[in-house]
Amino acid sequence: MSGIVETALADALRSRGGRVTPQRLAIARIIGERDAHVTAEEIFGAVTERLPGVSMPTVYATLELLEELGHIARVPTGSGPVLFDTRADQHDHMICRGCGDVIDLDAPINRRRLFAAASSHGFSAECAQVVVQGLCATCAATNQR
Ligand SMILES: [Zn+2]
Ligand SMILES: [Zn+2]
Repeated sequence: MSGIVETALADALRSRGGRVTPQRLAIARIIGERDAHVTAEEIFGAVTERLPGVSMPTVYATLELLEELGHIARVPTGSGPVLFDTRADQHDHMICRGCGDVIDLDAPINRRRLFAAASSHGFSAECAQVVVQGLCATCAATNQR
């Protein structure tokens, strides 16, 4: 529901002595409304449509704070622009090498085993996201013609 993200952002800004501006709240509102994979530029465009005067550094800083608060996540796309996921609960992704589409993937992945294997290398695991690469249904169909 929209509103939760704005409240969380406002609380976090206040507790850190940051300013709660209409622009920052608009960013939070847009994140709360969407269920998508978006770049910082797309968020910038959407905020500017509603409220002029927002700067790119403000967008980045706000997105980073929202990430810290757990309201957005980063999609591990490898190269290319940073892609933010407004769906912040744990899930994985399929990325099409044809059209670049990023699709949510819900599959039972045993992350505890992944983390256990990582820690056997002395690695302190924090998170794991799986990216399945290949061709989406549309691109696969086009390729076979
Ligand atoms: Zn595709
Ligand atoms: Zn996603």
